[in-house]
Amino acid sequence: MSKKTYSKLVKNQELTGDVIDLTYEGLGVVKVDDFPVFIVNSLPGERIKFAITRVLNSYAFGRVLGIIKESPDRVRADHPEMIASGIAPLVNLSYPAQLEFKRKQIRQLFHKVGIDDLEILPTLGMKNPTHYRNKTVVPVKFQAGKLVTGFYRRGSHKLVPIEDYYLNDPKIDVVVGIARDVLNDFHISAYNEISREGIVRYLMVRHGYHSGQTMLAVVATKKHLPHEKEIIKEINQRIPDLTSFLLNYNPKQTNVQLGLDNRVLSGQQVIHDTLLGLDFEIGINSFYQVNPQTTAVLYTKAAELAGLKSNQLVIDAYSGIGTIGLSIARQVRKVIGVEVVVPAVEDAKKNMLANRIENAEYIAADAAEQFIKWADAGVKPDVVFVDPPRKGLTSDLIQSLGVMAPLKFVYISCNPATLARDAVLIKEQGYRISKAVLPIDQFPQTMHVESITVFEKE
Ligand code: SAH
Repeated sequence: MSKKTYSKLVKNQELTGDVIDLTYEGLGVVKVDDFPVFIVNSLPGERIKFAITRVLNSYAFGRVLGIIKESPDRVRADHPEMIASGIAPLVNLSYPAQLEFKRKQIRQLFHKVGIDDLEILPTLGMKNPTHYRNKTVVPVKFQAGKLVTGFYRRGSHKLVPIEDYYLNDPKIDVVVGIARDVLNDFHISAYNEISREGIVRYLMVRHGYHSGQTMLAVVATKKHLPHEKEIIKEINQRIPDLTSFLLNYNPKQTNVQLGLDNRVLSGQQVIHDTLLGLDFEIGINSFYQVNPQTTAVLYTKAAELAGLKSNQLVIDAYSGIGTIGLSIARQVRKVIGVEVVVPAVEDAKKNMLANRIENAEYIAADAAEQFIKWADAGVKPDVVFVDPPRKGLTSDLIQSLGVMAPLKFVYISCNPATLARDAVLIKEQGYRISKAVLPIDQFPQTMHVESITVFEKE
C-alpha cells in the first residue's frame, strides 16, 4: 500500500488550517480531512498558512508560512533556537497559558480513562520561570573547525550552537562555555557517531542552587584525556569555585549519556546541596530534581496532603537519593525507601547519616519486586509515597499496594498519561482520590507536567 492510500498530502503542498491541539513535543496539530499534521511554533487557536515538509503513513509534518489569526496567548519570546532545539518548546506561549495548558492536559487524560468526577487544581507555577535548571548534559561536536556545544535541531544531527540555554542556572552555561573552550584550546577531539572516533561526547554540569557548589564532568570515550594535567590546571584557573571535576568514561554505542565509571580529575567526587533544611550529597549518576525551587514546594505540599502523624510507618518508593523520605522523617515513626540505582541508594544512606536521621532505611531493589516482598511479609505502612519515572507504576506494584493497604497513597507523577492509567487500577484496589490533583510546574517552558495525587482508602 502506498502512503497515498492514507493521505492525499504531498511534500511542499501549501495549506491553510486551524491549530486544534499541542502534542507532547510542543508541536501544534492541524487536521486535514482527519489526517494530523504536526507543525513547530504554532499554537492552539491559531489559524495558519503552512507547507507540508514530510508525509508519513498516519501523520505528516509541516512548517508555518504565516499566521493568519494569532493566539492571544502567543508571546514574542524571540528565542527561535529554543524552539528549533526543543529545549523550551513552549517559550512562545505566555506563562499563565502554559500553566492552564498543563492543568487541562491532566483533566483530558483522566477523562480518557473515564475519571471525570475530579477536581484538577490550578497549576502552581514559578515567579520567574526561566534559568531554573540545576543540571545539564550538553552534546559536544566538532563543527566548522572547532568544538561546539549546543543542542540538536529537532530530528537532525546538526548542533545548534547555544550560549544561553534559557532554562539553565546561568552558572551552568558559563561553566559549559569555559570547559568547551579549554578542551578546544588543547585540540581535544569530539566524538563522531558515524566514524565512532573522537573523545568528548558530552559536558555535564550540576550546580547546587542553595550551596553554590558546581560539578563539571567530561563524558569521554577514553579513560584519560590528552594534556590532562594542563586541562585540569586551566579549568581550575578559569573556574576557581569549581567543587568537583570528573572524567566520566562512556565508550559504549548507546544513547545513555553517562557511564558509571567516574574518575576525579580535581576537587571532590560529589557536590552537596540543601533542600528543606537538609544537606544532600549528590553523586554524578544519581537523580536529583532539576528544579530546586519548585521541588521544595512539591515535597512540602506532598507531605501536607499526606497528613503525616508521628506514629506512622512511611514508604518512600522510587526514592532517588532519599530526598522525599528524609525531608519527612522527623514527622513520622519510620521511613523505608526503595530505589533501583545502587549509587543513589548509597547517597541516600549517607544523606541519612549526615542529617543525623536515625529512623530511615534504604533498600536497593526494583520497587515492584520490593512491594511484592513487603506485601508477602505483612508489612503495613500507613502512608506510601511513589515518585516513579515517566513509565509510571506496574500492575504488580499496585496489587501489592492493595495488600499492604496504607491509609494514604501519595502519587507524585511526572507523566499524567501513566498517572491516569494507574489511577484506574488503584481505584480497583479500594482507593479513591482524596480532594484533587495538584499540578506543580517543575519544568516551565517545556511540555512536562508534574502533579501530586493523594489516594485514600475507602
Ligand atoms: N523521589 C526522588 C527520585 C524521583 S525520580 C526525588 O524526588 O528526587 C525516579 C527515581 O526512580 C529515580 O531515582 C530512578 O532511578 C528510580 N527508579 C526507576 N525505576 C525504578 C524501579 N523499577 N524501581 C525502583 N526505583 C526506580
